[in-house]
Order: sequence, then structure tokens, then C-alpha cells
Amino acid sequence: MKINEHFLQLKDSYLFATVGRKTTEYKNAHPDRKVIRLSIGDVTRPLAPIVVRAMQRAVEDMGRKETFKGYGPDQYCYGYDVLIDSIKGSYARKGVTLSSDEVFISDGAKSDLGNILDLFSADNTVLIPDPVYPVYVDTNVMAGRRILFADATEENGFLPMPQEGVKADIIYLCSPNNPTGAAYSKEQLRAWVDYANRNDAVILYDAAYEYFVQDEYLARSIYQVEGAEQCAIEFCSYSKTAGFTGVRCGYTIVPTALKRGGASLKRMWARRQSTKFNGVSYITQMGASVVFSEEGEREIAENIGYYRRNAAVIASCLDELGIWYTGGKNSPYIWMKCPDGMQSWAFFDRLLEEANVVGTPGSGFGKNGEGYFRLTAFGTHEDTQEACRRISAMLRRG
Ligand code: PLP
Repeated sequence: MKINEHFLQLKDSYLFATVGRKTTEYKNAHPDRKVIRLSIGDVTRPLAPIVVRAMQRAVEDMGRKETFKGYGPDQYCYGYDVLIDSIKGSYARKGVTLSSDEVFISDGAKSDLGNILDLFSADNTVLIPDPVYPVYVDTNVMAGRRILFADATEENGFLPMPQEGVKADIIYLCSPNNPTGAAYSKEQLRAWVDYANRNDAVILYDAAYEYFVQDEYLARSIYQVEGAEQCAIEFCSYSKTAGFTGVRCGYTIVPTALKRGGASLKRMWARRQSTKFNGVSYITQMGASVVFSEEGEREIAENIGYYRRNAAVIASCLDELGIWYTGGKNSPYIWMKCPDGMQSWAFFDRLLEEANVVGTPGSGFGKNGEGYFRLTAFGTHEDTQEACRRISAMLRRG
């Protein structure tokens, strides 16, 4: 037998392991010091009460013969109508009309971002921004696809735009972005949509952080741009929107109008999902189905607001220090330039040792991340404020 040798090409991911190891070593050596993590990439606020109640009701349903549920409904790849309708409602408020069979319920954006590649030939060329959420690169390395990188740099505000000479078949865009926090405007996305349609390419649009967008000119969905339904698949998640990282639920939009090679990608995806996936639990779907209700949106807005205030604290600290950064306003991530031209890991060490604050070195997200550093807004207010005081004091000391 032969293994998939493309796996041997994967680079080991040392980033979070090394951050964890260095932090533990420092804490063990200095048990008296309080180390604050501004590196948390996971949510920390609890589920909204309305979600908890909906899940409790669903548990009760499962315990009664009359209301017990087995596999989900076949019709929409095991997604319940009530959930699909609520997602359609959320899109309608963004000015996007969807039909029920364009909405696919998933156990989170990560699985679908990887699984969608089943639809495409391994011969395709992929265009991925650098720096980037590592899943896009690794899933394509596993399939042996040729990867081109779109440089995200300070010059383009970490929002690379299409380049006419570059020919790619599959394009990844993530907005608001992890790790940079930068978010595309509708105008900028229009350029990508036009480029993809001209080049017969498909955009895989990761909107996992769209609920953090506040500014009207920024896109909350790629389908807010005309023509996107002919070239884009959108991946969304309840993880950061509603604190579902441990519950697991997301949704992927594959428009009816999206065709390539004479085939409907929606039909192919439905076929793929009904063959390899058996749906998301009823309890989870019922919890998710109330997130976009009026009360649900009000409650999740409180949690998102909490993270936003943290982001604002970090952003204003960097503003005062005159440090360049992206993100912070429409994103839980702040991507700062390391002061004095420091390398990412050197700044990590300095911050840990002198301020007892942990962040994530930008170089771990791609070569263009060197010299940058990611801070996140997922901690507590108190810790975020204290961390900013320490960062400020450290940098003013010089
Ligand atoms: N996409 C991006 C850009 C992310 O940062 C994450 C999680 O951190 C995901 C997708 C994964 O989301 P989910 O929890 O829905 O799998």
C-alpha cells in the first residue's frame, strides 16, 4: 500500500506549542508573577441564556418518545428548517436573499473549509494570503495542490488585492482576518469577485468573524457584492459569533448560481455531505436556531461588545504609543508592528520577560508575519487593561 505522501510535506506547527512551552517555563521559573495571556484564540464568555434554554428544551425533547429525534431531515443535508430559516433571516438583514437548499449546516467552519476541497481537482492552483489561518495551507498541502501566496503587507493594509498576471483556480479570503484583524470593504471585495469571475476561479470566503464588523462600508458577507453568487462559497461559524467553540456549529453557503465545469457546486456539495457526513446534533441545532432571534442577537451582542471593548483598550494603548497596527475595531484581533524593528519571537520574549504578557508571534502565520505580533481581545477586561498598562510602561522605558 501507499500512504498519501503529501502529508510528509506538511510543516510541523510549532507556533502555539512553542508559545505554550515558553509561557509554562517562564511561569515555573517565576511563580510569584502574574502572566497575562493576550494570545487567547478561543472565546471565554459563556453561552447566551436563550441558547442554553433552547438546548435544555431540546434535551427534554430527546428524552420523550413523542419528541425524540434521530438523524436530521434528509432534505437539507440534516439541517432543521428552524435553523436554516433563522440563517436566511440573518442574511436577509444584510440584504442577501438565500434559498433553503443553499444553506448547509456544519459542525463548524474548520471542517467545511477542509472538506470543500473534495469538490476540486488536485491540479488546481490555489491562492492563499500570507500571513494566514494555517488550515487553508495545510489542507491543500495534504491534497498536493500547487499553492501561490498573495502578499499581505503593511503597504496594502494586510488586505492583498488581485493581480492580473496571477492565475489561480481557488482563492481563499478571510475577512475580518485571523491573524491580522484587517477587513475588506465591499468595494475591495468587488475587485476579487470580478477577478474570480473573469478567471473562472472559485473564492472560498471565510466569514467566521463577520459579527465583529461594525463599519457599514465593510462587507459582512461576500454576497453583498454583486456577482459573488457565481463565484463564491461562504463559510460561517457560531464559534466566535455566539461562543460555540465547544458546542460546534457553523454553516456554509453554496449558491445555486455557482457552476464550474458544467456542474452545480451546490449539488456536488450536497452529494458530498450526504455521503460523508451525518449532520449536527439536534440539541446543537436547536441552540443555534435562537442565536439570530431578536433576543438572541441582543444577548450575543453583549458578549461581542465585551470583546470589542477589550480590543478598543488595546488599540488605544497602541495609538498612544504610536505603534502601527491593523484590526481592533471590526475584529477581536490586533495585529501590531513590533517596536524598534524587532523580530516577532524576540518581541515575544521581551514582552513575556519584561511585562509578563503573552501574545502570538506573527512569523508563525507566514513569512509576511515576521516583525508583527498578534494580540487578542478574548481575555477579561481587568487582564486586558493590566496587560496594556504593562506594555505601555515597558515600551516607554525603552
Ligand atoms: N476560520 C477562522 C479564520 C478561524 O480563526 C477559526 C477558528 O479560530 C475557524 C475558521 C474555525 O471555526 P470553527 O470553530 O467554526 O471550526
